[in-house]
Amino acid sequence: MNKFVVDSMNGKLAKKLRFFGFNTLYYKQIRENEIIKIAIQENRIILTSNYELYKLCRSKNIETILTMQESDLNNLIEIGKLLNWQSLDDSKFSTRCTICNNELMEIGKEELQKTIPRNTFQRFYEYYRCCECSKIYWKGSHWNNMADIAQAVNKKLEKK
Ligand SMILES: [Zn+2]
Repeated sequence: MNKFVVDSMNGKLAKKLRFFGFNTLYYKQIRENEIIKIAIQENRIILTSNYELYKLCRSKNIETILTMQESDLNNLIEIGKLLNWQSLDDSKFSTRCTICNNELMEIGKEELQKTIPRNTFQRFYEYYRCCECSKIYWKGSHWNNMADIAQAVNKKLEKK
């Protein structure tokens, strides 16, 4: 799977990529030369809305995609087309923490009875915990919203 480093303008896009399973670095504040350094050292593709940075990277032969679409959905379609994605694979969804980018582990519901709100506990069956920051995720409405976005992306990728 592609790995990314995302500029500070694209936080929401970074979270979506993480949800879809892509190893994606994002910092609220990061200097351009830091982004470039990380991209080179870790073989990551830069996603930026900054045309100057885009041009600079292109001139240095660093793989960079300009995220200038009006929505994350359209940015994802653009990225997918440029990188020749076949489709977003739902077996990868929710394998990565959207907050810290580390891996999630599926956990048994029983473990969570005391930690999550009761109405959530009663309604949902699949739960995940971040190995690093311990944030708990469940397959609920957010998961469904993201799956809808993925479906819209996949439809466009099919039509290439
Ligand atoms: Zn985390």
